[in-house]
Amino acid sequence: MDIFIPHRRHLVHTAPLHLNNAITILDTFNPLKPITMKMLGTVILKKGKEYSIERSHPWIFSGAIQRIDGNVNDGCWVEVLQHNGKRLGAGHYQEGSITVRMLLFGEHQPAENYWVARLSGALRLRKTVHLPSDATNCFRLIHGEGDGLPGLIVDYYDGVAVVQSHSYGMHADREPISQALQISFGDALKSIYYKNNSTMPGKVRDQQQSEYLFGLGGVPHIVSENNNKFYVDWEEGQKTGFFLDQRDNRKLLGQYAVGKRVLNTFCYTGGFSIYAISGQAELVHSVDSSEKAIMLARKNIELNRFDEDHHKCFAADTFDFIKDKQEQYDLIVLDPPAFAKHREARHQAVKGYQRLNAEALRIIKPGGIVFTFSCSQVVDRKLFYDTVVSSSIQAGRQVKVLHHLAQPADHPVSMFHPEGEYLKGLVLYVE
Ligand code: SAH
Repeated sequence: MDIFIPHRRHLVHTAPLHLNNAITILDTFNPLKPITMKMLGTVILKKGKEYSIERSHPWIFSGAIQRIDGNVNDGCWVEVLQHNGKRLGAGHYQEGSITVRMLLFGEHQPAENYWVARLSGALRLRKTVHLPSDATNCFRLIHGEGDGLPGLIVDYYDGVAVVQSHSYGMHADREPISQALQISFGDALKSIYYKNNSTMPGKVRDQQQSEYLFGLGGVPHIVSENNNKFYVDWEEGQKTGFFLDQRDNRKLLGQYAVGKRVLNTFCYTGGFSIYAISGQAELVHSVDSSEKAIMLARKNIELNRFDEDHHKCFAADTFDFIKDKQEQYDLIVLDPPAFAKHREARHQAVKGYQRLNAEALRIIKPGGIVFTFSCSQVVDRKLFYDTVVSSSIQAGRQVKVLHHLAQPADHPVSMFHPEGEYLKGLVLYVE
């Protein structure tokens, strides 16, 4: 499959700049209905608070702001100036600790084809890292800050884009984003699902309705990842329907699986399990507390035409499942949900990781392998490592680190926004 560079005939037209910096983008699909992207205000920073923005860090915290001029509201575009009036860029305004999420740096105004340019740039990066390919037709197109678009997630599932807003601004801009996706992908896009009922800020989350912005979907939908097939259900599933961030790590696991007895905990729809079976594991046990996830994991086994004799699913809590087990697995995967979503929960989260890893290290066979992960952004790589050291001591096992794992290239991290790194993993050899 090839990359979808926007065709010239699709490029958006713009009206001249209005005096108040409003930019009007004509809707190419309905030219009578213009979409406006207006700067509703100006945020002026305190002296000395411009440095991180000059270094392209995309967040402006409330404490850095000296004054706000204009009639701003949650989700609008604002210009950002340093204390002496020099323009630093523009972004989405949202009352709260992070008051502005920067969408553009420097003195220039947003280009007329802002959204198309951003999405096409993101597609170019994916093409560089060979996504999509003959083997893989699903990938993350927009990874928030990593793609210069804080608050926006877009996952692409062979013809369907699933969009999530984590900010008012991205929610307000969903129409131009939807249009830009159609322009950028061209015929490779059949529908856009806007899944918004779980990601918007707390106070409005319950009022959100997920909907198709373009086309109509059919779920579950079959995608291919490294030639393994998966059903994806973005309407009922977790996050956008599938955990694309484990693609490379699943592939590595497949390489270790031959002849092994594998336990895949927190399996969701069976990602690691499918790779283990196709890597010729002797037996795979998949555990998840969600019945719905387990149902889809079962369907994924069927879809890949695997022999049921080698695989068993358990709808159970991982901690309960592991508790009374003795050494019977050669390979264990621990991929829990984020135990800490914010800094205050970090201590409890570390205790959770410590306990979970100690249990797995206790029951793994001598010479066995553990793939262990944390996707909690607030538990950094060093803290996670130290936690697993503590688990190894508690389990009384000799442990060697074979690999340090991370999120894949379609979940990029901006050098200037190290907070974007969230997934870390270790592959351990346990004597
Ligand atoms: N490894 C998966 C993604 C895991 S997401 C993949 O490759 O696709 C985390 C999963 O943990 C979710 O499916 C969630 O339902 C499950 N989960 C959360 N708490 C759990 C618990 N205590 N025991 C078992 N599963 C749990």
